Amino acid sequence: MKPVLYQGLQPGGQLTTTNEVENFPGYPTGVTGPEMMVQLEEQAKRFETDVRSGFITKVDFSGDVHKCWSDDGKEIHADTIIISTGASAKYLGLESEQKYLQLGGGVSACAVCDGFFYRGHEVVIVGAGDSACEEAHYLSKLCKKVTMLVRKDEFRASKIMAERVKAVENIEILFNTETLEVMGDGEVVTGAKVFNNATKEERIVPCTGFFVAIGHKPNTDVFKDYINLDETGYIKYEQPGTSKTNVPGVFVAGDAADKTYRQAITAAGTGCMAALDAERYLAAKH
Ligand SMILES: Cc1cc2nc3c(=O)[nH]c(=O)nc-3n(C[C@H](O)[C@H](O)[C@H](O)COP(=O)(O)OP(=O)(O)OC[C@H]3O[C@@H](n4cnc5c(N)ncnc54)[C@H](O)[C@@H]3O)c2cc1C
Repeated sequence: MKPVLYQGLQPGGQLTTTNEVENFPGYPTGVTGPEMMVQLEEQAKRFETDVRSGFITKVDFSGDVHKCWSDDGKEIHADTIIISTGASAKYLGLESEQKYLQLGGGVSACAVCDGFFYRGHEVVIVGAGDSACEEAHYLSKLCKKVTMLVRKDEFRASKIMAERVKAVENIEILFNTETLEVMGDGEVVTGAKVFNNATKEERIVPCTGFFVAIGHKPNTDVFKDYINLDETGYIKYEQPGTSKTNVPGVFVAGDAADKTYRQAITAAGTGCMAALDAERYLAAKH
């Protein structure tokens, strides 16, 4: 079908920022994220995907033919579009956090992806919502101890999720607690310097993993005038169980519409759904 693929500012997507991917089927000994993405690109090219650099800055989905504009000023017309622009994890923005994130030295925004590497270790997780509770619970099954840092004096999560976390023996919850610095030896994380905003006391929590679970921002701003988004910016499926959006001929795959799973295999699965939905849409149209 000769699809055209615009790669945006992060060719290969989020997996290019990680080392080991342990949970994608077909790699019994794991694979590095960048290596896997090169292989995916080669496979797509074998089926005549026209892979282009550049990102989409504007769209017009008002007509029967959908229009996109790329940052080099090109106007592209297409019968079908698949949006798979992903979502970016939010970070605290501390210099030390970014340093160990870039080094791959123990800062992560995905417990399900990276928890495995901290089996038997002590870790810290920052966040107070449902996802943070879910991830803390997940980590508690792998790690020796999980310290959860909650900025306010209560969870933002639903009561049931908060109760679930409180009931786990190896999860310690520090309320009113903010991170001042992610500490390390220059290569890997060794602790977190934290501050109690009620008592004004500082302390160091030893840890080898520092997990940030304060939410994601879906990369969907460019579509918001045409595509229905939920209150947090994720694309809404028009018909559950399909990849259809509210605009006929525009489909969505991956993290841009997924606030629950956000995994490579779920992105690939919904990508397959979107490709089949697009093909069927074209067949019906012509
Ligand atoms: C550090 C880290 C480690 C992870 N480890 C794992 C793991 O071990 N296992 C696992 O299953 N999952 C893991 N994940 C999650 C996984 O990476 C995502 O679920 C998956 O990449 C989602 O794929 P996607 O195609 O929806 O989006 P993304 O991978 O985010 O790709 C989005 C693409 O869209 C492009 N784009 C965005 N906006 C535009 C635009 N306007 N125009 C053109 N292009 C645009 C971007 O440049 C990018 O190439 C990890 C994530 C992170 C951040």
